[in-house]
Amino acid sequence: MRNRRAALAAIAGAASLALTLTACGQNSSGGSKPKAGDAKGGTIGIAMPTKSSARWISDGNNIVKQLQAKGYKTKLVYGEDDPDTQVSQIENMITQGVKGLIIAAIDNKSLNNVTQEAASAHIPVIAYDRLILGTKNVDYYASFDNEKVGKLQGGYIVHKLGLDAGKKGPFNIELFAGSNDDNNTRYFFKGAMETLQPYIDKKELVVKSGQTALDKVTTLRWDGTTAQKRMEDILTASYKSGRVDAVLSPYDGISIGIISALKSDGYGTKSNPLPVITGQDAEQASVKSIIAGEQTQTVYKDTRQLAKVAVTMVDDVLNGKKPQVNDTKSYDNGTKVVPAFLLQPVSVDKTNYEDALVKSGYYTDADLK
Ligand code: BGC
Repeated sequence: MRNRRAALAAIAGAASLALTLTACGQNSSGGSKPKAGDAKGGTIGIAMPTKSSARWISDGNNIVKQLQAKGYKTKLVYGEDDPDTQVSQIENMITQGVKGLIIAAIDNKSLNNVTQEAASAHIPVIAYDRLILGTKNVDYYASFDNEKVGKLQGGYIVHKLGLDAGKKGPFNIELFAGSNDDNNTRYFFKGAMETLQPYIDKKELVVKSGQTALDKVTTLRWDGTTAQKRMEDILTASYKSGRVDAVLSPYDGISIGIISALKSDGYGTKSNPLPVITGQDAEQASVKSIIAGEQTQTVYKDTRQLAKVAVTMVDDVLNGKKPQVNDTKSYDNGTKVVPAFLLQPVSVDKTNYEDALVKSGYYTDADLK
């Protein structure tokens, strides 16, 4: 009897404890689940990859400005392209009690543990421009249509060489891709190659180096010096005769390295002009290079708009609202399809930079002098 009463009491006790825990929203990891609006005035952690590229500085500043306008405090960190540094920066922010995280990954596969820590502490994670792979603990993805970026680069080359107007070449092209630990790299390359491959198949475009597979053309951490060295090696090995007519470059910083290699090899004169060279991000130095007639094109991605999408996402989640998304199928991170809001990139060259970049207020004319 005594035992039965004790057992019943124990069951009742456990049930009421469970009720209390549910009421305060505690979960198995012990953190208490925040209620909508709890994060008001709290700090949002922003982890950006590097200050070596102007775009990420603009991204960071735009996110901070927009979060502060919504009443949040901010903690902005840059991982200087070192995945371990980024992981420990995010760990620190979790320990300091940030209410939400906006992360542009350096290595998209290195964040599993730290995003699990964030989830256990009920901190929502927004993947910013670069998808975080292999974890369920990424709530939303804010980016651009990344395949379209590649299509704009490949399509620009095809058009500029006149291939789409019936010119047959053959034209020589060399291919560069981004960092192999950035998920965007394969989307950019796929988009570009979808446009270029038919002409390579018809031999109207020729890759003299023979380096056409993605794993042969990536550039670790998007490093311009690495790209410069690869371009120099290609020029030495494959262009004893003939000239490079076009270079697919995925990013402005890589284009700068490629242009350096080409200039050292004698390109950039009236009789030996630089090839058609693409890029991405409309970074100030590269827009100046486009105006000066060196780089040919870039793909502009308005970081003010991207910041707005990410800031709205984190604010919505913290206020118990479902963020607006416009893509629920393209971005499978290996564990789940991450709901995304994708913005549209814009091709920019000498003919439209005023409209695209100056009239939109992204740069002033003075910035581009
Ligand atoms: C971004 C590009 C950028 C590149 C290098 C990519 O993840 O989407 O806009 O050019 O990283 O920073």
